[in-house]
Order: sequence, then C-alpha cells, then structure tokens
Amino acid sequence: MMKSSQENWFTEVFGNEGTAFGLAVTEKLHQEQTRYQYLEVYQTRTFGKLMVLDGCVMLTERDNFLYHEMMSHPALFTHPEPRRVAIIGGGDCGTLREVLKHPGVEKCTQIDIDERVTWASEKWFPELCDANHDPRAELLFDDGIAWVRNAAPGSLDVIIIDSTDPVGPAEGLFAVDFYKDCRKALKPEGILVQQSESPLLHADTIIKKIHQDMKAAGFQQCHTLPFPQPVYPTGWWSCTMASPQGSVTRFRDDDSAAKSFATRYYNVDIHRGALAVPEFMKVALGK
Ligand code: SAM
Repeated sequence: MMKSSQENWFTEVFGNEGTAFGLAVTEKLHQEQTRYQYLEVYQTRTFGKLMVLDGCVMLTERDNFLYHEMMSHPALFTHPEPRRVAIIGGGDCGTLREVLKHPGVEKCTQIDIDERVTWASEKWFPELCDANHDPRAELLFDDGIAWVRNAAPGSLDVIIIDSTDPVGPAEGLFAVDFYKDCRKALKPEGILVQQSESPLLHADTIIKKIHQDMKAAGFQQCHTLPFPQPVYPTGWWSCTMASPQGSVTRFRDDDSAAKSFATRYYNVDIHRGALAVPEFMKVALGK
C-alpha cells in the first residue's frame, strides 16, 4: 500500500454526514473567485483533472462519464422523439456532449449562470467540450430559472437540470415554482430530469421533496434512478425523471439497444436496472 505524508490531498468534508472524500493531488492548475462561486482545477494522481466549485467536487476526468451519461440517455430514450432539449446548469458541457450524440436532437440549449465554468472546462477538460461547436448546440450564460420562466410554452421535449447542490444560485432550481415553469415549457409528453443527490443520504429529505414538488407542479409521474458516482458524497448518486403526462418507467428499449453511438456506462440493461427501486427508497418515497 502506497503512503506518503508528503502528498497533498484535496479533501471535501461532509460535516453533517460525518464523512469526507479525498483525492491525492499533484498540482493546482487554476483558482479564481468568479461572480458566482469559487472555482478550482487540480491535477490528481489517479483520477485525472478535478474541477471544484465552492469546495465541492464537480467532476473528475476519470469518472464523469457515469454522471453525464445517466443525466442524459435515460431521459432521451424515454421521450418518444426528443428534438428540442435544454440543459440548466451543466456548464462543464459533458451532458451537452452526451445529448448531441442522439442524431434526432435538432437543438440543445445549455444555460449556465457562470461563463467561467465553461471557460475552465474548455481549457482543462476539452474532451467534454467536443460538441460545443456542433451547429445544434447553443451555449447561453444566464440564470436558468429566468430562462425557463421566459421559455415559450410547450417548446421543449426534454429539460435536464444539471445543477450544483441546492444552495446558492442553484437553490431555486429545487423548487416547486421552477418545476411549474418547466412543466409549462415542456410538451405534455416531455421529460424533466434533475440531478437528485445521494439515495443513501437524501432519500427521505431532498429526493422525497423533489417528488412532492414535481407532483405539486403538475408532473404526473416521477421516478428516481440511482447510479454510481465515486467522487460525490457516499459514491452513490441519482437523477429524478418526471413527465407531465408521459411515462418515465417505460422507455424505447429497442432504440436504446441499437443506439448508434458509444457510451462507457449506459446501455439498455443499465437503464432497466436503474429503474428498479431499492426497498428503503420505496419506504422513503411511499411507492
Ligand atoms: N455534476 C455536478 C454536481 O452534481 O455537482 C454539477 C455540474 S455543473 C458544473 C453545475 C452548474 O450549475 C455550475 O456550472 C453552476 O454554475 C450551474 N448553476 C448553478 N445555479 C444555476 C442557475 N440558477 N442557473 C444556471 N446554472 C446554474
């Protein structure tokens, strides 16, 4: 076992949960206070580059595919024919890249409040930004809450909320008024998907509230899909999908099985498995 007291560690402490996650880092590549948050980029010893916002791990080169694929492909293979997609947040552009792998998508608008996150991603994580110059991509830097409020009713097929935790500028992205605006902007068979934190830590708090708020906003079905994400608290994360009138538990499994693009985690069986509800979550969510 390798041990070095000389080594520098980036450590994110989850005080309330009494846990911490650490990565050995070899270099700090960037730091700045943006208008909205404190942005850092590190070189780690074993996880590639690491992006941090306000002390919270956003992504590493090594494992971001798990999150980005699960934030996009289940929603896009659930919608019958996704053409118009909006990503709220997502400034690292990894979700945008996955969305634009779907040849039927005609336009994907990404609205992140902080231009510096995309700047840092283009500089330090260029592989995530492969699709930034796709003619179907539109990158806007604005408050996602206001953007959705002003979106034309029924203009979107899929909205992906790829946000930071529900504090600071992202707090309003976990709120019933915002979900109401999302429902208005979506077509009736549209799909909303939100990163919904850790099943182990947040099933009966944040995830339960997301379900209640989405229902209160007029979404008839919602369903939480857990997936692994080693660099987030507990290593186990989730997204929650909802639809005003469509199903979120049935998906285009034939299309998923015959997908025309490469993924590293997502496939039709992973999608099916992610729809299974762990026993404790049935209790927490009253399913
Ligand atoms: N995967 C990450 C996670 O779960 O921790 C999220 C990554 S993505 C970088 C989160 C983005 O949400 C950030 O770039 C942040 O600027 C953006 N964001 C936070 N609040 C926002 C808002 N109100 N409107 C638009 N973007 C917002």
